[in-house]
Amino acid sequence: MNRIHEYIDQNRDRYVQDLIDIVSKPSIGTDPEQTRLCAEAIRDKMKAMGIPAQILETINNPVIYAELPASRENMPTVLFYGHYDVQPARDLDLWDSEPFAPEIRNGRIYGRGVADNKGQFLTQLLAIEAYLKQTGEVPVNVKVILDGEEEIGSKGLADFAAKNKDLLKADLVYTSDGGTQNPEIPTINFGVRGVMNFDLTLETASTDNHSGNKGGVTRNPAWDMVQLLSKMLDENGRVLIPGFYDAVVPMSPKDRELVEALPFRPEQFARDFGVKEIVARDKVDYYDKLMFQPTLTINGMFSGYTGAGCKNIIPKSATAKMEVRFAWKQNPETIYRLIEDFVKERNPQVQMCMVEDYMYPSRNNTELPIYEPVIEAVEKIWGAKAVISPVSGGSLPEFIWTSILEQPSILIPYANPDEANHAPNENLDLSLFQKGIHTTAEVLHALASQK
Ligand SMILES: [Zn+2]
Repeated sequence: MNRIHEYIDQNRDRYVQDLIDIVSKPSIGTDPEQTRLCAEAIRDKMKAMGIPAQILETINNPVIYAELPASRENMPTVLFYGHYDVQPARDLDLWDSEPFAPEIRNGRIYGRGVADNKGQFLTQLLAIEAYLKQTGEVPVNVKVILDGEEEIGSKGLADFAAKNKDLLKADLVYTSDGGTQNPEIPTINFGVRGVMNFDLTLETASTDNHSGNKGGVTRNPAWDMVQLLSKMLDENGRVLIPGFYDAVVPMSPKDRELVEALPFRPEQFARDFGVKEIVARDKVDYYDKLMFQPTLTINGMFSGYTGAGCKNIIPKSATAKMEVRFAWKQNPETIYRLIEDFVKERNPQVQMCMVEDYMYPSRNNTELPIYEPVIEAVEKIWGAKAVISPVSGGSLPEFIWTSILEQPSILIPYANPDEANHAPNENLDLSLFQKGIHTTAEVLHALASQK
């Protein structure tokens, strides 16, 4: 094992160059051409590492797949999941360097996709490579699947998984995505919330109108939209759509136990998030809201004139960009219908339409024996006891593993808490990137030793 860790230490600079190479390929999932070019570059890099990668087609963007059997028989199989598509760069003026020309500043690498998720799946590949280079084999059966459209719903992967259950069969699915809660302490997640985006649009005129000459005798879609939205949520953030909470599974006593062990420092959280306050009564309420409750969020709204000064108009239309985060056992299709019924009943002129695809929520039983050696290995490398989080507030296509393939899965983020994923200046702390490679190598070793 020491040999492998030494090899990882010696190759630090080359690893950073590997990351720069793949981040330089702008693989925004909605751009199939660029996404495929990135997939080809990653496949070639994997082959150079000795990992026999291939590009496999799905109904949308392709996946990259590889498998390496262990030389010994009866070893467990681990499936590493990652995604090579990235969010758009957006707000270019807020970036301090080019999003797709990664730059290193103060021990961090900056660029779109460095943390979400290219830098993180690369750690898995590099750990596999270290094993291959040092021992000529992998200690357990290893499979790798890299998704080309996680940021837009993973529909292609979900369909691919349903048709290729044997190919993706594993004893454990291992994913590194998102940030740790603390750069010194590993975080382990056993579930995710689901997500769905939709637009609400109301058009009441073919053109903007003079607000004096027509004011009071024509409808104002901005007001109508505000009134509709105000009926969806009360002052405490409780969603008022009938049936919205029906399928939500409340926090169990075991969940509560895990939650009690999590950190709760509202002032510091507020500072870290850049918000004025945290909306929670206490620790349990905070994690209940973040892990076990759904949300209905306004991501953005636009209508009428929004420039400097004023323009006396009645807007012709109003749009609200909306999102739901699903708690465990909520069904996206059911919730979509409930919201649609609610909207139609109150304002039949409002058009509702889904944007991209949705993800189901997912949970794992946190007490399976296969998790034990994994958690021990992670704690060994980090030198700290792991924070065990029953659910992460964010979303990943975990339901593919837990619902379609019915196999256990674990989420161990390697990125820094302030990775700025989805935002300008996305970054990855290079010491955590390196630690991630050591962590995965140690996990492979631990899974092999357990048998
Ligand atoms: Zn993301």
